Amino acid sequence: MLDCLLHYLQEEPPLATITARENVQRLVPYVAGKPIEEVQRELGITDIVKLASNESPLGPSPKALEAARKALENIRMYPEGSCYVLRQELVKHLGVEPDMLMFGNGSDDLIHCLGLAYLDPGDEVVTAAPTFVQYRAAALLAGCTLHEVPLKDYTYDLDALADRFNERTRLVFIANPNNPTGTMNTRAEVERLLDRLPERALCVLDEAYYEYIDHPDYPQSIEYVRQGRNVAVLRTFSKIYALAGLRVGYGIAAPEVVRAVDQVREPFNVNTVAQYAAAASLQDPDQVLRSRRVNDEGKKMFCEAFDRLGLKYAPSQANFVFVDLGRDSVGVADALLRKGVIIRSGKIFGTPTCARVTVGLPEENRRFIAALEEVLA
Ligand code: PMP
Repeated sequence: MLDCLLHYLQEEPPLATITARENVQRLVPYVAGKPIEEVQRELGITDIVKLASNESPLGPSPKALEAARKALENIRMYPEGSCYVLRQELVKHLGVEPDMLMFGNGSDDLIHCLGLAYLDPGDEVVTAAPTFVQYRAAALLAGCTLHEVPLKDYTYDLDALADRFNERTRLVFIANPNNPTGTMNTRAEVERLLDRLPERALCVLDEAYYEYIDHPDYPQSIEYVRQGRNVAVLRTFSKIYALAGLRVGYGIAAPEVVRAVDQVREPFNVNTVAQYAAAASLQDPDQVLRSRRVNDEGKKMFCEAFDRLGLKYAPSQANFVFVDLGRDSVGVADALLRKGVIIRSGKIFGTPTCARVTVGLPEENRRFIAALEEVLA
């Protein structure tokens, strides 16, 4: 017995050699923007500006923070799986029926759930490239053929997407505006694509940056759901509402689509604190207006600086700008990091000379611009 125990203690435990299923092996783990704490640890810099993850620089509404604190008192209990309070608030806010709303642990979760609910091996998924990477994950995980149509002038080419449709098309993912380029598709473009949508396909219009947009040609996509088209609209509290750390996103779709997502989602996929903070943030439209104003001014500041530096950039409707630095952007991002400014190199999007920069507070934007001027000089 003792021999056996000694032998056990001396032997290196064998490493597990079990392999994940083939569809999982094709996936690459999500690469997030570098957290401020990591840069502090690695470089010993304390005064850091993070313009890398499209987060809101103003932060959440004080009403949301107060609701979050209050909700903390109840966290010994499970959340309401139906997101009752948040659902009621959104019903008022959007003028939709309660059974047209679905909720996720971020809109990431809803993208994943739509994949689980609708994709069988052999089905086809159509999207663009570069775009938000979770669409690719949903398709590959399900063993589907993925059509990634190149952007045209930094923008989704919706006619080219529709050219890829066939009887196996099941999900079509459109980020409007697109991440990482910030570009928008117009109502006319979206409707032309919807008119060509095959019968068994669902078009997912991902509007994570919806509240930043003020453009007369932007589609009012909830109308498509009301018209009975096969459309699911995704929105999030992570961007203008500044609740990224709480993880809450929602979708608007036909009750059958909502039911399908309900069948595959985790029972308590949106936590209590997130539900109440999100509901309260809808009560503070002034905070949304303030955030939009800070964003518009910051974007203008970025574009003026890029013009001055002779850099090409995509026209952005979101809270970030995609700029072509005309040289290896990893090197530029690294040099900026050493100056305490975190941006996102376009290398991970397959565009190595480009970078995505999130709009910050005015002083953060100025610091980025000054650092960029020094690095490019
Ligand atoms: N869609 C798009 C286009 C995004 O840019 C993001 C955030 N990066 C998301 C969805 C996911 O947002 P969340 O899961 O935080 O709601």
